[in-house]
Amino acid sequence: MLEFNYYMPSRIFFGKGSLENLGTEKLPGKKALIVTSAGGSMRKYGYLDRVTALLDKNHTEYVLFEKILPNPIKSHVMEGAQLAREAGCDFVIGLGGGSSIDSSKSIAVMAANDGDYWDYVNGGSGKGLEVPNNPLPVIAITTTAGTGTESDPWTVVTKEETGEKIGFGYDKTFPYFSIVDPDLMMSIPPYLTAYQGFDALFHSTEGYIANISNFMSDMYALKAIELIGKYLVRAVKDGSDEEARAGVALANTLSGFVESTSSCTSEHSLEHALSGYHPKLTHGAGLIMVSAAYYETFAATVPERYVQMAKALGRRDASQASDFIEALKDLQKACGVDDLKMSDFDVDKDDLKKYALHALDTMGGLFEYDPYKLTLDEIVNILEKSYR
Ligand SMILES: [Zn+2]
Repeated sequence: MLEFNYYMPSRIFFGKGSLENLGTEKLPGKKALIVTSAGGSMRKYGYLDRVTALLDKNHTEYVLFEKILPNPIKSHVMEGAQLAREAGCDFVIGLGGGSSIDSSKSIAVMAANDGDYWDYVNGGSGKGLEVPNNPLPVIAITTTAGTGTESDPWTVVTKEETGEKIGFGYDKTFPYFSIVDPDLMMSIPPYLTAYQGFDALFHSTEGYIANISNFMSDMYALKAIELIGKYLVRAVKDGSDEEARAGVALANTLSGFVESTSSCTSEHSLEHALSGYHPKLTHGAGLIMVSAAYYETFAATVPERYVQMAKALGRRDASQASDFIEALKDLQKACGVDDLKMSDFDVDKDDLKKYALHALDTMGGLFEYDPYKLTLDEIVNILEKSYR
């Protein structure tokens, strides 16, 4: 399909030691709001100290906002935006995993605009209003390899009162620049390395089977899938394997390009419905739980795409769609994440239809990008097949 719409305005500093650019590059403002997690790992591993030292070196002031939860919530977006205004911050730095960087994008929007964040969100109880003022510039410093948020415009936040977990983003929410330094990922524990790696993988596999996939997104997706196939098990088994960490980090950044040029599909809507209600469920883990049943559903619709994905994952002799499903299951087994259960996260089997309807209500847009439009029965069926 020689037709595409390509917009990728973020400068990306990729590679070992690339954090140093924060101390030398021209920054987009004079005072940063640093948005990071409540967990304390950015302090524990010394990343926060390195970031503030580099800002000092670059003659830039900063204020800290260390409250972000693994599944970020709207009230923290509003609080962070308020702090940015009061302190006179003119740009935002997201430091950490996808939750911190996504929050930094949403805070950047609300620091420059009135009203409630949900006024601008599309889907569920969001009002879908146009954002009047440009967001503050965002610098993304990623310490994980999962969401691809450093190379896409997307941010996912949950409205805690309703459990609505909805993606938001537009041309102005791409980062001003991003730093992807695999040195900052060495301390991620094996299970999170696996969850995040599968999230990156699914951004590419969804973008590859999406009905708006194109020449440009295919190129990034197949390379990202290949890198995950080659390096994820190594990174999970030995977190100090620098080559494997860099390979998975690159796969994640390329998957962000896929999200920017094609789209995620309803696998993500299903997961957001589950973790919107059950915030303890990690995004990547939720995706893994529904993945086999999800991909089985479309195997007969785009079989040639499945063969290409199986080959990219390392099955050179793949000849049929089921080879991809098998390769996916094998990879989950090799990473030790083949036994995740919804029931362990208090998901009730009797509620599956509720989650399906919630997915359609809050993230209905992504169902439009599946290889064909699923019926409600088919959606419930995917959840039923996935339930353990
Ligand atoms: Zn994701």
